[in-house]
Amino acid sequence: MDRKLLLLSAAVLFGFHLPLQGLSRFEKSTLEKQKMAENAVWPSHEPLQFTQRKGGGAEDWPGRYGRQDSPANLRLLAGLGARYERLHFYKGFGLQFEMPEIRKSMKAAGLMHGLGMKVSLYVGGTMFIETFYRETPEAVNWEQRDQYGRPVPYIVDTQTFRHFACPNEPAYRNYIKRVLDIGIDSVKTDQFFFDNYLLQAEPKSCRCERCMAAFHDFLRKKYPTEEEVRKRFGYPSVDWIKVSEWDTYNRPEDLASIDDPALQEWIAFRCASLADQCGEYYEYIKGRNPHISVGFNLKGLYSQNRIWYNAVYHPLYSGHCDFFCFDIDGMTPGLDPRTGALVGEIRSYKMARRLDFACEDGDPGIELAEQMAFSNQKYVEGFGFHGAGYNHYAQRVFSPLAEFFREYNDRYYTGTDNITDCAVLRSWPSMAYSVGAAWVAATLAEQVLIQHRVLFDIISDEQTARLERYQCVILPGQESLSMEIIDRLAAFARAGGTLVFTGSTADYNQYRQRRTANPLLALMGLERPPAVTTVRSYEKGMLVYIPEIVPALPVTPQGRWALPCEQWVLPSNHGEIYQTLAASLPRGLSLTAGAPLTTAAEMLNRKESRETILHFVNYDQQYRLAPFEARLTPQFKGVVRSVELFSPELDQPQKLEFSLTEGKLAFTVPGMGMYSMIVVSYGSL
Ligand SMILES: [Zn+2]
Repeated sequence: MDRKLLLLSAAVLFGFHLPLQGLSRFEKSTLEKQKMAENAVWPSHEPLQFTQRKGGGAEDWPGRYGRQDSPANLRLLAGLGARYERLHFYKGFGLQFEMPEIRKSMKAAGLMHGLGMKVSLYVGGTMFIETFYRETPEAVNWEQRDQYGRPVPYIVDTQTFRHFACPNEPAYRNYIKRVLDIGIDSVKTDQFFFDNYLLQAEPKSCRCERCMAAFHDFLRKKYPTEEEVRKRFGYPSVDWIKVSEWDTYNRPEDLASIDDPALQEWIAFRCASLADQCGEYYEYIKGRNPHISVGFNLKGLYSQNRIWYNAVYHPLYSGHCDFFCFDIDGMTPGLDPRTGALVGEIRSYKMARRLDFACEDGDPGIELAEQMAFSNQKYVEGFGFHGAGYNHYAQRVFSPLAEFFREYNDRYYTGTDNITDCAVLRSWPSMAYSVGAAWVAATLAEQVLIQHRVLFDIISDEQTARLERYQCVILPGQESLSMEIIDRLAAFARAGGTLVFTGSTADYNQYRQRRTANPLLALMGLERPPAVTTVRSYEKGMLVYIPEIVPALPVTPQGRWALPCEQWVLPSNHGEIYQTLAASLPRGLSLTAGAPLTTAAEMLNRKESRETILHFVNYDQQYRLAPFEARLTPQFKGVVRSVELFSPELDQPQKLEFSLTEGKLAFTVPGMGMYSMIVVSYGSL
């Protein structure tokens, strides 16, 4: 909160009088709503029994909890502009045990619908063994079992009274469908949010009979002939395969890469099991009512191999997920106070947009600004847009920035698609089988793009069929690549695209077997990796080899973080990487801006209104930005009618002077605080 607002909030809080004139309309509505919100109780997605059982709750919580469903409270929330709220529903204690609390949510949902609000329901993914097994004794057979046949408990605090169900157990899935039926039929929910849908890191993988049989089926489908099985495993049959067991001398946390073919396939199988379970719920809900939005706590993309640790591979959720949330420990968006690293969820937003997921975050300040700039506001018929300014968390924030976003959310932040010059390919075998190197390289390369404001996407192998929308594809340390992907990349370059690859990219095949010759270097006519950045034309396109992305700080992994967030510092050779990239784009950069490297940008087209929308987010919250020049490639045919600045500091948009020279639209962005938006409007054809 800025100083002026802090003072004003204090004035409201302590009742001393300050004139409201001189305040922007966003500041005024902030103060009004902060005052109104003083008496609001924001509904909890946790039932009271959970807070009691886990401990650590506030003494007065039962009293406040009791008020959350009251008509007066819900009216207040609606009056504050809340479009939807998440209610407690099914935590995992068992339907019978939870029914009294579920009934409260049914009643609250009816009131909320009457007030024009939508209802989101929480569905937890663990089984509370103390209560659930009393009413459903057979559920003990649904548990995950590790290599010793022991259950797999929840990992936070002391909550070992929660066990994970096996993702391949049909009876558990059917039970959850009964839970969903109640949400659909009796609560008439508009959204389901599934929590705890991740698998635990080795050694806590489920090795139950169901999973082992399903794993062998998975292998059989993937390697249907004996010849293929022999080539992959050296054996005649996949039935012989066992997943490696862990012990003191063989610890999963000591692996730097996963070279064991059975373990590689096990990673893919675990990801597929989790995605299949979530996909089944998604299909079930949509089959019953396609207007219900469905989301999972998948978390985003970070410098830690969550494919390996948690069996989350986002592309598997394509078409089976409307939104996901972040909820990750170990990162605080903003500039890291120790190292100056620019930390945020931009990678997650980029990946989500290409897979058509929305993301749900909304803490005040930079996280909200980042979300508004980068998030894909997915549309679900009936539910509407997953409006970033209105999501479950964001709508509880009352600040001039949040008020500004809500004012303009529907008009400028919906129905957009981002403009991209480049794509970073995070290829499955590189990312899944590398625990450190590929994650460090990808993170640092993306950091260069983010901080130099290169417009980019993050894509996976599944998306390499549509490379023509990019001028350039970047492969940062993508050490393991299949020939199929390399052939696609080569075809992209032959057709005029630029392929940039770094370090050990393509040194290994898709099984992480070292190649005798690097096929990408071979396309450049090189036998060995050159020591300096090397550029070669290749038919209509270009190949660029960058030997190294040089970390500016020593890379010191912490826990599962291959590169802890405070080390997301621009690499030492970021300037050279950026210059090389800019010079090798066939049509040049679509956006350049003279802002500091701590300011990120996203540029999108909104076809319906023929507008280009440019967002600037200043992560350096200590300083306002001085005015800076921006140049962009016009995106629509016809004259540029206006360039307008929208800012939480301005009551109304401000028209900016602009010029068009050498095919670029140029203007000066006035000094700004954390965020500003520029809207370029084009005349009709
Ligand atoms: Zn299992």
